[in-house]
Amino acid sequence: KKYVYGFAEGGRDMAALLGGKGAGLAEMTRIGLPVPPGFTVTTDACKVYLAMGEEPPELGVEAAQALAGLERAMGRTLGAPDDPLLVSVRSGARFSMPGMMDTILDIGLNDQSVTGLAKASGQERFAWDSYRRLIQMFGHTVMGVDGDLFEQAISSHKANDHDLDVGELTRLTEEFKAIIRKETGEDFPQDPADQLARAVRAVFDSWNTERAHVYRHREHIPEDLGTAVNVQAMVFGNLGSTGESKSSGTGVAFTRDPATGERGMYGDYLPDAQGEDVVAGVRDALPLRELRSLDARAYVELGDHLRTLEQHYRDLCDVEFTVERGKLWILQTRVGKRTAEAAFRIARDLCEEGTISADEALVRVSGAELTRLMFPRFDVKTTDVPLAHGVPASPGAAVGAVVFDSTEAVRRAAAGEQVVLVRRETTPDDLPGMIAAQAVLTSRGGKTSHAAVVARGMGKVCVCGAEELAVDTPGRRFTAPSGAVVREGDVVSVDGTAGTVHLGALPLTASHVGRALETGTATDTLTDAVLGALARADSGRRLQVRANADTPEDAVRARALGAQGIGLCRTEHMFLGERRELVEAMILARDDLARERALDALLPLQRADFTAILEAMDGLPVTIRLIDPPLHEFLPDRTELAVRLARTGHPDPRDRELLAAVERMHEQNPMLGLRGVRLGLAVPGLMAMQVQAIAEAVVERLRDGGTPRAEIMIPLVGTVEELRLARSEAELVLGEVESETGLTLDCPIGTMIELPRAALTAGRIAEAADFFSFGTNDLTQTTWGLSRDDAEASFFPLYIDKGVFSVSPFETIDQEGVGRLVELGVEAGRAVNPRLETGVCGEHGGDPDSIHFFHRVGLDYVSCSPFRIPAARLEAGRASL
Ligand code: ADP
Ligand code: MG
Ligand code: MG
Repeated sequence: KKYVYGFAEGGRDMAALLGGKGAGLAEMTRIGLPVPPGFTVTTDACKVYLAMGEEPPELGVEAAQALAGLERAMGRTLGAPDDPLLVSVRSGARFSMPGMMDTILDIGLNDQSVTGLAKASGQERFAWDSYRRLIQMFGHTVMGVDGDLFEQAISSHKANDHDLDVGELTRLTEEFKAIIRKETGEDFPQDPADQLARAVRAVFDSWNTERAHVYRHREHIPEDLGTAVNVQAMVFGNLGSTGESKSSGTGVAFTRDPATGERGMYGDYLPDAQGEDVVAGVRDALPLRELRSLDARAYVELGDHLRTLEQHYRDLCDVEFTVERGKLWILQTRVGKRTAEAAFRIARDLCEEGTISADEALVRVSGAELTRLMFPRFDVKTTDVPLAHGVPASPGAAVGAVVFDSTEAVRRAAAGEQVVLVRRETTPDDLPGMIAAQAVLTSRGGKTSHAAVVARGMGKVCVCGAEELAVDTPGRRFTAPSGAVVREGDVVSVDGTAGTVHLGALPLTASHVGRALETGTATDTLTDAVLGALARADSGRRLQVRANADTPEDAVRARALGAQGIGLCRTEHMFLGERRELVEAMILARDDLARERALDALLPLQRADFTAILEAMDGLPVTIRLIDPPLHEFLPDRTELAVRLARTGHPDPRDRELLAAVERMHEQNPMLGLRGVRLGLAVPGLMAMQVQAIAEAVVERLRDGGTPRAEIMIPLVGTVEELRLARSEAELVLGEVESETGLTLDCPIGTMIELPRAALTAGRIAEAADFFSFGTNDLTQTTWGLSRDDAEASFFPLYIDKGVFSVSPFETIDQEGVGRLVELGVEAGRAVNPRLETGVCGEHGGDPDSIHFFHRVGLDYVSCSPFRIPAARLEAGRASL
């Protein structure tokens, strides 16, 4: 096995072995860019070292040979007393891990060679500055000395290290050496070979630092990759910027603007500095274009190299570069990170320029980026300190007056005020307030808590689980960790993208992308890029995208955003508000007559709901789910009601009846109780009423010349028997309406697959179903045997921390478990009924990773909240490539 590769021996496709940085350096060397020569110690060597506690024996020999080669090429010897060769030792793993691993510059300096460097360069100050940098970096990263001790020593001389003169630097060097001796009982090593070997080993060791672990965990980077180490001849940007010698300096540059995607090179330049200085921001860097007046030749040459790189990598690249006395060197390149906006613009421009194909352009953008572009944003300055941090549950930016309950939110919103609803956590009762508010802020719950799910569904800004906040609802105020108290009516800014809350109104930048998506008209290069990518995605995708929508307004919006129907129309909310009394009456009914009366009163209301939605989605399928949640959700809270009754001396008999009903219906575990099809079968007339309303709505639309395509969906089926019973009841009603009107209604009847048993017996169930819609929210709960609302608040953080989950199974489908059930269900269902339509509704339908999975298992459609439709279309298109 070979453990060391010269830069001229490697290439871009060797990143696993040479690390990203090493592969880039090799590739640039190969295509003739000016890269200081050097060699790379492979990740294999690192893996051996980490496993065995020592380097593989061959490494010493190979590294010595590579170093000798480097010395020959440079005509200098590492650390030689006069005119020494100096090298940098640079870490570089497969995936860029910014700031996680350590790099040491100026290896090879010691008490003798520092004088040699001073003479050879003619600059004493530069030599001593380099030496003290080496001792400082080496002392800290290799020998483990607290970095503050060095900083304190510097500040005892001057406020800024750039102001130190030669005398001070010489003395400082001695002080640094003394610090190392005192802290470690060891001297700073004078032998250059020893410095090099120890630095390489330190880079290996840095793979296992705490912050490296934390970073890898967060970014889902495997633990066993190891890092490569690059040893490279030093070039110097800190040789002064003026004088008879040509200018020196260092900088970073991008082939295009990584923030906007604008064409043309972009970057920062810092005269008289070493690489680290630009990144660390110790002094203010100049815009790159100023290099043109400082050194026109280097500027033009840099431009040429950037063009070469972009053509070569066929993407935005960034580089680190250094100018040493007028000679340009490129020290690093990679495909550059970019904002969502830049991603779309660059993909479009590269395609237009003929560099990449339209399909490749589609690969370069993502649904998550598209979603980010659809929300307004804050112009946050680094000086704006947030009141608190929480979970960024639903992106966007909103400003409003703080309110602590739904009623107040509605009241103020009706008066034209913008409000932010602050709750410890939200419940369905808060819905009107959430609709009225610009943003929702909670101190409990995660990304799939009620607040988060509902807010995302509405495209409303939400930060949840801001646990640092003490929310005092009765006192109508909350307290931030800083001690700041925010009272009802105070204005705050909620940043759902960053997950922060700020006091006062931050300036907002509106997104025109959302508007362009709804109108389908591009207004600038960005919207043109977005619409172009979507058009490409639409032309290639197999998965259809439907919306989860319960109101005509949502349906209209969803359709504008490209929905191809409604995959989930919930009917629960149609029982809320002023209709609650009718529902109570239905539940409390003593006899069939009373219940029928209540149902009769609900019928026309439901029919109107359905007619409006079918009209908004004319010609497209609308899957209507019959009532699903347990009845007690429509009744008052048991304890509250009991307390209220106990307080009043002579309670209303109706109230007493209500309490009795609430008590009768109380369930230990309502999510596993009387709900879904069970409820439909248990309450006579309920299901029939809903089907009747659907049938009559269809009739109305047909008579108006429309093309209604209602589909009836039975929830929470566990066995085919349930579905058969429900189906025959529904067919009876449909048949009656058909014979009364003489019209053919054509309403497919299907079921949700949201219980493991349903998935496992999908073959049987398919005998009675025209379609399957996988309800993966409930299917996840029932497969894992955990309640989403409880689990997210209690042990999910622990599980994520311990690596049991890398992501919540409610956010991205658990392919191995829940996903397997989906696969089984599709297969078994189609085997029995080849025309069975299959889809997924629920949160996963809008999640990019899950969408790719649903594409692979062959579903016909995904359904998600209107706001996520463009992203879902894009991802469905990408999945088809
Ligand atoms: P990081 O991965 O943190 O960016 P690098 O290995 O790129 O670390 O090095 C840190 C800084 O030192 C960079 O700005 C880089 O350009 C500079 N640098 C690294 N090696 C050399 C070298 N041989 N000559 C001059 N500057 C160098
Ligand atoms: Mg770098
Ligand atoms: Mg369900």
